[in-house]
Amino acid sequence: MQLFDTHTHFDVADFDHDRQQLAMQAKRVGVDALVLIGFIESRFDELIQTHQQLNAWENVPQSYLAPGLHPFYIEQHHSSHLQRLEQVLQQYDCVAVGEIGLDTFLKQHKQPELFSKQQDYFNTQLELATQYQKPVLLHIRKAHAETLAILKAQKFKFGGIAHAFSGGVEEAKALIKLGFKIGITGQITNPNAKKLHQVVQAIGAEHLVIETDCPDMTPLCCQTFTEHRTRNTPVNLPYVLESLAQTVGLPKQTLADQLWQNSLVALDLKF
Ligand SMILES: [Zn+2]
Repeated sequence: MQLFDTHTHFDVADFDHDRQQLAMQAKRVGVDALVLIGFIESRFDELIQTHQQLNAWENVPQSYLAPGLHPFYIEQHHSSHLQRLEQVLQQYDCVAVGEIGLDTFLKQHKQPELFSKQQDYFNTQLELATQYQKPVLLHIRKAHAETLAILKAQKFKFGGIAHAFSGGVEEAKALIKLGFKIGITGQITNPNAKKLHQVVQAIGAEHLVIETDCPDMTPLCCQTFTEHRTRNTPVNLPYVLESLAQTVGLPKQTLADQLWQNSLVALDLKF
C-alpha cells in the first residue's frame, strides 16, 4: 500500500529527537511520500534542512517541499518574507506554495486591518504560485466564501489541496470545480464529526487526499489521556485511511490507490 501524507509539519521541534525513527516507521506502514509545509519565514531554514535530511536518509518517505506564509500567523509576516519566499521558490525544488489562505477563527483576525492583511498575503502568494506554476495548499477556517472569491478573481488555475477541510458540501464542490482536492485529517476518525462525514460521502473518493497535519490532529484512537496533547506523527496516517474507507464504503486498498493518484494529480507529480 502506498500512502501520501499531503500535509505535515514534520520539521518542527517536536520531532527533533526521533524524526529518523518516525520516518522509518512511517515508511514501514506504507507512507511513501509526504509534504513538508511552511507557515512562517523564520522557520524556512529548518524546513529546507529537514526536507534535505529526509531525502538523504534511506527507507523513509520521499519529502516534498511547500514553503508559504500561513494566515493564522499574519501578525508575524513582513513584506520581506514574501521576497524570501520567492527566493526559496527559485532556489529549491518546491512542489507547491503552502500553506496559504484565510483564517478568521480568532476574533482579532476578523478586524478589518488584520483580515485585509491576510487577503493581501493570500493574493500575493497566489500570484507567486501562478508565476512559478505551482499548485497551492490552502488553509481555510471560517472564511470559505472569501477564499473562493479571491481564487475566482485571480482565475487561479494550478489547483492544489484544501487542507483539513472544515467547510460544507457546497464549499467543497466549489473548490473541486476550481481544481482542488479536499484534504482529510484524523478528524475523520471522530464519529461526531458529522459535517465532515457528510462532505466525504457527498463528494466521493476521486476528490479526496489524506494528511496527518502532524503534530496536530491526532486520530482519536492514538490520543492518550495521560498527556495534555498527544503528538501526531506520519506513522498514524493509516488510521485516517481506515476511517475514510469505512465512511466512503471502499476496501482500504482500492481507496489507497485512488488517494495516491489524487495526490499526484493535486501536486502535479509523476512517479
Ligand atoms: Zn498545517
